[in-house]
Amino acid sequence: MMSLEKLVRRNIRNMKPYSSARNEFHGTASVFLDANENPWNTTYNRYPDPLQMELKERVSKLKEVETDSIFLGNGSDEAIDLVFRAFCDPGMDSVILIDPSYGMYEVCANLNNVECKKVLLNDKFDLDADKILALDNDWVKVVFLCSPNNPTGNCLNRDEIYKVLDKFHGIVIIDEAYVDFSSQPSFLTELNKFPNLIVLQTLSKAWGAAAIRLGMAFASPEIISVFNKIKYPYNVSKPSQEAALSILSDTEKMQKQLSQILFERSRIEKALTESPYFYKVYPSDANFLLVEVGNANNAYNYLVKKGIVVRNRNNITLCRGCLRITIGTPEENDILLDVMKSLPI
Ligand code: PMP
Repeated sequence: MMSLEKLVRRNIRNMKPYSSARNEFHGTASVFLDANENPWNTTYNRYPDPLQMELKERVSKLKEVETDSIFLGNGSDEAIDLVFRAFCDPGMDSVILIDPSYGMYEVCANLNNVECKKVLLNDKFDLDADKILALDNDWVKVVFLCSPNNPTGNCLNRDEIYKVLDKFHGIVIIDEAYVDFSSQPSFLTELNKFPNLIVLQTLSKAWGAAAIRLGMAFASPEIISVFNKIKYPYNVSKPSQEAALSILSDTEKMQKQLSQILFERSRIEKALTESPYFYKVYPSDANFLLVEVGNANNAYNYLVKKGIVVRNRNNITLCRGCLRITIGTPEENDILLDVMKSLPI
């Protein structure tokens, strides 16, 4: 790996971060006249903890990662954007994306005027590390891997991921938004071995908390301190921090919903594969299925007419004719399966 010192943009390395009132004061006090807040307690009159320490302690216990290796943000989308701002000089640097994958990597690249080099997945939606390594040069700062991948649903081959981690000179992101639904283990345990690794996870999927916008990035303390330097001072609101603490305390509820989603995933997969139309359902390690339906545009419109919204992936690389269908409640899945029986294909 190139030294972190060299990978971080020079202006970011040299800049002085904003120091908020809550950053500067350490200790105990009873009169807070330092942050121009409204003094009357209305639950939300005070700024929240900028580094969300109580929540990080909880995440630390749950994930067995030290708090200084954790960044919390406004969804993992915030961490994705910070990666560009930390490591990629606009108009100069580039990143490598697998194709197809989650759309926000490219959107953030465009937003930050950073070139995307795309590496096509193979016909099993899997990764060839050599294709990525062939594009490696001093201006390629980051590789984005997503496993389980969106929209394909599969985990990427672990040996190929290790090869990228071993040989790529820059930062490697492994986006594990869907890892809780997978039979494969997280790469969190590899953080100490690979100083160039950033693992992304989120409360938006298995934890059932998309609305609170709480994403997690795990990496070396050095990378996390770069994120802390450039993030908005109070990037996670107090209601979100409180909600996350409460949601993370109920692992049992999450596990119960998770098993139900996995059960339903198999049930829908079986029903669609065995239906009179013999839909092709791609193997999934996530909470959605990629289903080849023939004419995806017609199928999508038909489902909408019946009040069911899925994601039309017809125009996505390697996904022609495909819908991405999220696993719903058993009742919702019954409605879907019923309508799929009469789909015009
Ligand atoms: N990564 C992937 C692969 C996703 O599919 C999504 C959301 N669809 C995200 C990240 C963003 O998650 P969050 O809600 O935490 O911003």
